[in-house]
Amino acid sequence: LKPELTGDFGTLMEWADGARRMEVRANAETPNDARTAREFGAEGIGLCRTEHMFFDEDRILAMREMILAETSEGRRTALAKLLPMQRQDFTELFEIMHGLPVTIRLLDPPLHEFLPHTDEEIADVANAMGVDAERLRRRAHTLSEFNPMLGHRGCRLLISYPEIAEMQARAIFEAAIAAGKSTGAPIEPEVMVPLVGIKAELDVVKARIDAVAQEVMEESGTTIVYQVGTMIELPRAALKADDIAQSAEFFSFGTNDLTQTTFGISRDDAGSFLGDYQQQSIIEQDPFVSLDQEGVGELVRIGAERGRKTRPGIKMGICGEHGGDPSSIGFCETVGLDYVSCSPYRVPIARLAAAQAALKAKNKG
Ligand code: PEP
Ligand code: MG
Repeated sequence: LKPELTGDFGTLMEWADGARRMEVRANAETPNDARTAREFGAEGIGLCRTEHMFFDEDRILAMREMILAETSEGRRTALAKLLPMQRQDFTELFEIMHGLPVTIRLLDPPLHEFLPHTDEEIADVANAMGVDAERLRRRAHTLSEFNPMLGHRGCRLLISYPEIAEMQARAIFEAAIAAGKSTGAPIEPEVMVPLVGIKAELDVVKARIDAVAQEVMEESGTTIVYQVGTMIELPRAALKADDIAQSAEFFSFGTNDLTQTTFGISRDDAGSFLGDYQQQSIIEQDPFVSLDQEGVGELVRIGAERGRKTRPGIKMGICGEHGGDPSSIGFCETVGLDYVSCSPYRVPIARLAAAQAALKAKNKG
């Protein structure tokens, strides 16, 4: 444990852990984050954002080739370069977490983050692909969007580019086998599909994941225990959670996007006027910091209730920024979520807040 988590503070944490009902996980995608999360007492990874894994120089080029390839074969060739790296990423995370639950979310970038923008970037990709730079520029142009956060991201991308889900699923399952061998711990990955609004979207992506799991099991002669679940981060997903739960084995509420899409306020630009709103008492708190319990929270409650109607006992957590905010954690307790997931440094606060919420619920009951 970190020195600051021993002594009196450590004792307080132990008391908190004895009192709370909800698990506390962390959002982490690097080995450092995962180690920090464990040191702070995280009981798993609730969100591994895989899009962050592709921005290194040695990966972004292959990612751009993949996005801009015009055939499935071209995409597979580019993704084949990324598979060993991605397998290594997941193996390390699984090893560090040593059998604790790890939820890996398939790719969810706003597409423009992976498009080449400068002449130099276009020339580099054209060179790597052996195609004409002008043709590539035109192709990149056809993929650019005015509203990338409401565009071709999450499961939508995984549906148009099924090869991505296949590569990532293979990397996850092969890593689970490798980490299972190196640690001796059972590794049971949770594969999460982002930005689902329609059950059929999840079905299409899940079918790919299941097919890859089958292939990897046959190739390795090993059984892999895994779950496929979904983010609930669009109002429609919350409203149709009964439908979606027919296919999802777990839910994770993505309250960043859910706040953005419920209010219709950009999560990236909101700072420009929300401060003013607070000053004028139009709102009490920034809804991107503290869950709007009566609005966005109502959708979380509806999603949880409807999901449970279809699949009683379905595991549910929250992985938006609100998962580390004490009053939002209190709200999650009232909805009966199983876990909150937050940034590694907020894990101790979340453990305390979860304990406080559980005690409050007990006293009420
Ligand atoms: C969310 O939308 O709440 C979420 C956790 O996903 P991201 O922040 O990566 O969009
Ligand atoms: Mg999101």
